[in-house]
Amino acid sequence: MVQPRLALIGDAAHTIHPLSGHGINLGFQDAAALANQLCTKAEHIDCGNLRLLRAFERSRAEEVLALQSVTDGLHHLFGASQAPLKRLRNFGLNFTNQMPVIKAALVRYALAA
Ligand SMILES: Cc1cc2nc3c(=O)[nH]c(=O)nc-3n(C[C@H](O)[C@H](O)[C@H](O)COP(=O)(O)OP(=O)(O)OC[C@H]3O[C@@H](n4cnc5c(N)ncnc54)[C@H](O)[C@@H]3O)c2cc1C
Repeated sequence: MVQPRLALIGDAAHTIHPLSGHGINLGFQDAAALANQLCTKAEHIDCGNLRLLRAFERSRAEEVLALQSVTDGLHHLFGASQAPLKRLRNFGLNFTNQMPVIKAALVRYALAA
């Protein structure tokens, strides 16, 4: 996502399947994280400093990778035509639907993102 004096955000930095419904949110979070990194830097450090930009990159890596992995997994699971995978998918959906705690956690994540 970064090079000396260069930082990419949004889809330029990472792509994600539209089924996640979170592409734009990831971009907004990138912008906020980069702004935060630049606003809290020591005055004598250049805003294009690579170590500074790497810190921004690290701060976003976990969330982006997690969302990409979950979305890719769901994409493959829902595209699968093998009977065992279909059964696993239906079991997962029904299980999630019957667990208010899990549903509430998913809604909380979507609203906060
Ligand atoms: C079908 C679909 C549904 C989606 N649904 C959702 C959703 O429900 N929720 C969600 O959060 N996200 C969703 N997304 C993802 C979301 O649209 C993107 O993640 C988001 O638009 C990325 O924003 P961005 O500003 O990074 O890039 P973009 O929106 O792609 O903006 C980049 C801009 O740069 C311009 N540009 C490109 N090259 C140049 C150039 N050389 N010079 C000047 N300008 C240039 C482009 O014309 C474009 O206007 C969806 C995506 C798709 C395809």
